[in-house]
Amino acid sequence: MLNIILMGPPGAGKGTQAVRIIDEFHLPHISTGDIFRENISKGTELGLKAKAIIERGDLVPDDLTIDLVKSRLSQEDCANGYLLDGFPRTIAQAEALKKMGPEIGRAVNLVVDITVPDEVLVQRIAGRRVCPKCGASYNVVSMKPAVEGICDRCGSALIQRKDDNPESFKIRLDNYYAQTAPLVDFYKAEGLYHHFDGMEGLEKVSAQIADLLKKTL
Ligand code: ADP
Ligand code: ZN
Repeated sequence: MLNIILMGPPGAGKGTQAVRIIDEFHLPHISTGDIFRENISKGTELGLKAKAIIERGDLVPDDLTIDLVKSRLSQEDCANGYLLDGFPRTIAQAEALKKMGPEIGRAVNLVVDITVPDEVLVQRIAGRRVCPKCGASYNVVSMKPAVEGICDRCGSALIQRKDDNPESFKIRLDNYYAQTAPLVDFYKAEGLYHHFDGMEGLEKVSAQIADLLKKTL
């Protein structure tokens, strides 16, 4: 069983690796960022609450985020494994997940953390373009799609995220170090933690992650 958490700072390559993992291992991809953005574009109540927070680079309150993940993880398609991308991002979220996982019979058994130095993250985020439909990420300098502005994977038009600007990015990175980085020790203590160096290149990192997942299966 693969009940995975994928973590790492914004720009570490999480989204790209997530797409590869779900394609190869056929897991549902639960990206809290994607779920929030979908709610924002549909104008739901949750979307209205989250919009300004996300655009300025802050974290959505824990209670909202935890409820969202609990109902998503309870759905039938998560019974045979899942990939959580972007959750947990705070110790309170990790504690909530630790409690809800076993309750719904879906405890996390693997944490994959990808890290990259800050100066590289800044550059990657500045050139990032994303597919609003399938979540695939590209970069105008280093990872261009085959056809400019079009997603290789699903053919949708690529966009630049509103929070991929220098000001919001700075806040996201500060929040990452203050709130999310402490999860490393949390998951080391649980014996679930695995680190990957995001500077090794996409192919190498995805091969390393795939090896770990195959061993865990
Ligand atoms: P990235 O990893 O590139 O920063 P995500 O798509 O994972 O971006 O998340 C985008 C934004 O959505 C975050 O900056 C935050 O505002 C909100 N968000 C996503 N996941 C969470 C979470 N677990 N807790 C609180 N806010 C979240
Ligand atoms: Zn796409």
